Formats: sequence, C-alpha cells, structure tokens
Amino acid sequence: MSIPRTALITGGSRGIGRAIALALSVHAQQIAIFYAGNQQAAEQTVSLLTLQGVQAMCLCCDVSDPVKVKEAVQQVRAAFGPIGILVNNAGINKDGLTLRMTPQDFDSVLQVNLAGAFHCIQACYRDMMQARWGRILNITSVAGLMGNPGQANYASAKAGLVGLTKTIARELATRGVTCNAIAPGFIDTDMTQTMDEKTLAAAMQQVPMGHMGKAEDIASAAAFLCSEAAGYITGAVLQVDGGMYM
Ligand code: NDP
Repeated sequence: MSIPRTALITGGSRGIGRAIALALSVHAQQIAIFYAGNQQAAEQTVSLLTLQGVQAMCLCCDVSDPVKVKEAVQQVRAAFGPIGILVNNAGINKDGLTLRMTPQDFDSVLQVNLAGAFHCIQACYRDMMQARWGRILNITSVAGLMGNPGQANYASAKAGLVGLTKTIARELATRGVTCNAIAPGFIDTDMTQTMDEKTLAAAMQQVPMGHMGKAEDIASAAAFLCSEAAGYITGAVLQVDGGMYM
C-alpha cells in the first residue's frame, strides 16, 4: 500500500502528459493536471483517472504565467493537500529555420517549456522540502541533447531543462527530493502528427529501432522515476528514444 500522495502533471490533457497521469495512479491517490485550453480533453483525462480509482481534477493554467501557476498550485493544495510529485510535461513547438525565426517565437517556446517548469517547481518546492520527500520530473527532448535544425527555440528550452534538472537535484538532494528528466525521441502524439511523410521517413532513419515510440513508453519510465524504488536516482536524464541518441 503506497502512502497517500498528490501528483501534479502539467500538460496532462493529451499525449504524453495524459499517459503519465494514468501511469502515476499507482503512486498517487490524488492527481491534478494543468492544461492550456483544451477543456474537453482535460476532462476526459480526469474521467479516465476517476475510473482508475484516483481523485482527480483539471485546471486551465498557462504555465508560462508565474502568478497563474501560484494560484493554481494553491487550488490543488487546498483540494488535495501538499504536492509530492510534480511532472513538468507541458510543451509547445514553433519550428522554423533560425534566419526566419521571430524573437517572439523564440521567446514564447522558452517561456512555456523552460520558464513554465521553473514556475511550477518554485510553487511546489516548499511542499516537498517540508515533507522531506518529493519527486520532480522534467520532460525534455533528444533535441535538447543533440540539437535539431529548425528548432533553435525548442532545443534551447529543452537543453535549459537539463541544467534546471541538475540544479534542482543538487539543491534538494539532502531533503529526500529527487529531480530527474526524461528525454523522449519521436513519440506518436499530436505534436508529431503534423510531420509530413517525407520528414517522418527521414526522422525514422535516425532511430535504430526504426519506429516511433508511444506515449506509454514515456509513461512507464516516468512512473518508475516518480516511485519509491527510484529514491537514489537524481539529476539523471533518461533517454527513451529507441536508441536515437547514444
Ligand atoms: P501535445 O502537443 O500532444 O500536448 C501538449 C500538452 O501541453 C497539452 O496537454 C497542452 O494543453 C499542454 N500545454 C501546452 N502549452 C501549455 C501551457 N502554456 N500551459 C499549460 N499547458 C500547456 O505534446 P506531447 O504529448 O507530444 O508532448 C509532451 C511533452 O513531451 C512536451 O514537453 C514535448 O516537448 C515533449 N516531447 C515530445 C516529443 C514527441 O515526439 N511527441 C518528443 C520529445 C519531447 P492543451 O491540451 O490544453 O492544449
């Protein structure tokens, strides 16, 4: 029997975030998800979690807004108690070759993917420190480890997340709080469904396993890193990418 715990997953309405929320129902009895605007999908995740016997709630919260994050985390705390597990999964991409990328497109991707994770960590930090237990997991990307043409903004944000992960891991290591990252390769979600056939075929050439991963492949790794069993792992970046980057 696991200890009653509250988990918060950003971007839990769809794709990888939804799969992580469902996989975490083994380790958390209360689960909150943040989403950007897709209320129907968010409510569907809540229904799926409820079917798994978990108390669940969804909140529309733009993670790039620190004030909104603070308020939303407070709402979760009021309903479900202190947050013990935080998964920073919310992410966007606005791809384009560097010469044509606008400063706005560079900045907005950093604000959501990188600053968003920082705001959420800051809002949950004390809960975990005081409980002397916590799990923080940041979803980065192989793009942050190896770079990717057309993704100067996204790869910078994801590389930044690696630095953030290692810093938080060091800050909280003596408090029983771990902070790790998962770097997915190509995963079949809405984010990758916009790729045309030619781009997809070229991408698969880079993957030794020769096919895309599923959201569940990330979720099972996430469930492990958020479990008791992973208590001595911190500051790690786990690649779940079919061998793409090694
Ligand atoms: P999706 O596009 O399928 O889902 C994105 C999720 O993030 C949605 O829940 C969306 O909410 C939410 N979101 C977007 N912007 C914000 C915001 N400002 N505030 C709060 N929530 C927000 O993405 P994936 O599931 O594919 O990706 C999840 C994570 O994994 C991302 O960080 C992505 O960068 C990373 N990743 C994905 C890869 C892939 O191949 N798919 C590869 C490597 C990394 P809403 O539904 O309301 O729009």
